[in-house]
Amino acid sequence: MKKIAILGSTGSIGTQTLEVVRGNADLQVVALAAGSSVEKMEAQIREFHPEIAGMWGEKEARDLQERVADLDVKIASGMEGLLEMATWPESQVLVTAIVGMIGIRPTIAAIQAGKDIALANKETLVTAGHIIIPLAKKYGVSILPVDSEHSAIFQSLNGEPADKIEKILLTASGGPFRGWTREALAHVQVEDALRHPNWSMGRKITIDSSTLVNKGLEVMEARWLFGVELDRIQVLVHPQSILHSAVQFVDGAIMAQMGVPDMKLPIQYALFYPDRRSMAGGRVDFFTLGQMTFEKPDPDTFDGLRLAYEAARAGGSMPTVYNAANERAVGLFLDRKIAYLQISELIGEAMGHHRVVREPGVEEILAAEQETYEYIAGRISRK
Ligand code: NAD
Ligand code: MG
Repeated sequence: MKKIAILGSTGSIGTQTLEVVRGNADLQVVALAAGSSVEKMEAQIREFHPEIAGMWGEKEARDLQERVADLDVKIASGMEGLLEMATWPESQVLVTAIVGMIGIRPTIAAIQAGKDIALANKETLVTAGHIIIPLAKKYGVSILPVDSEHSAIFQSLNGEPADKIEKILLTASGGPFRGWTREALAHVQVEDALRHPNWSMGRKITIDSSTLVNKGLEVMEARWLFGVELDRIQVLVHPQSILHSAVQFVDGAIMAQMGVPDMKLPIQYALFYPDRRSMAGGRVDFFTLGQMTFEKPDPDTFDGLRLAYEAARAGGSMPTVYNAANERAVGLFLDRKIAYLQISELIGEAMGHHRVVREPGVEEILAAEQETYEYIAGRISRK
């Protein structure tokens, strides 16, 4: 029996992780955490019987407590609750399916408690990779990528060391606005940006996919996960989303992982690694597919990608500013307070305003996040 904890269980990755649990009788959920959807959490508790469950808000946690009073489950809330669930003694693997930098502290605590991490929460690595990766090494725990591209790279690497990698080929679908001009992008509405051609995901990451900021975050994620310098990570736009990423080795061989776009595969692979389990679902038929195409990304139109490389090169606290500014800007766009192109504009401005802190600790990372939030709030109220 493999026992797992899921932070962010009501979201897109969280619910797909629970589908994987339904398909594998030897997986058991011992802890579940979510933000605010009490009703969904109640249903999950009744189906999966975790030992502990938590809501971010205290009010929601009290509501949940009343709803499940007939069950033997501990209810927790806030950061304290997330930390308790991340380090729950019975759990072996923590699935980080939460959005944003809120994942940093629980991930660190879980590593220190010796839990393997099935990592979906890329913001944690982007902003604190320099802390997380050495810490995982120190405690001898595995960081198993759930992000589809990184899972593809991990599967293609198949244990070969970083010095055998010549290049990482990171694929991107290009999103719904592939080939568009900036003039056209100026008029994009929320509904247009939420329509991803190939993947069904949470709202924030769907917007990030359309701006290519998601790919920018993934470049930084790949750099930490695989220990490869930035100029050896190449982004390829591949609109069919069948080749999920590849590794080019020092002898010129390229190994890639392909399949239909379905997050359950990388989730299941991370949970059972190194075992590959059978899984029902779609299969690629190359005759129906006909062709796979590749294009260079356009960093002038999609300047969120260009800014990501800038943030990664600046290093230190700059990726935090990139990430935090994007998070706020995406929120403002979803609330229809700013135009689509202002997302990357605000990221660039926040980065220009920031003085980099080298090797930031968790407190300094969270301070840079706060500073960026305040900067963006000030920028918007002045408009
Ligand atoms: P989502 O918005 O669908 O779900 C987020 C989950 O986190 C929800 O359960 C929500 O309740 C919970 N949550 C939010 N704030 C919380 C808080 N303060 N305390 C406790 N729980 C909280 O997001 P998602 O699309 O599932 O993405 C999750 C992470 O996985 C992100 O980092 C994203 O970049 C990454 N990711 C997602 C996909 C995908 O296909 N959705 C693919 C690759 C990577
Ligand atoms: Mg991805």
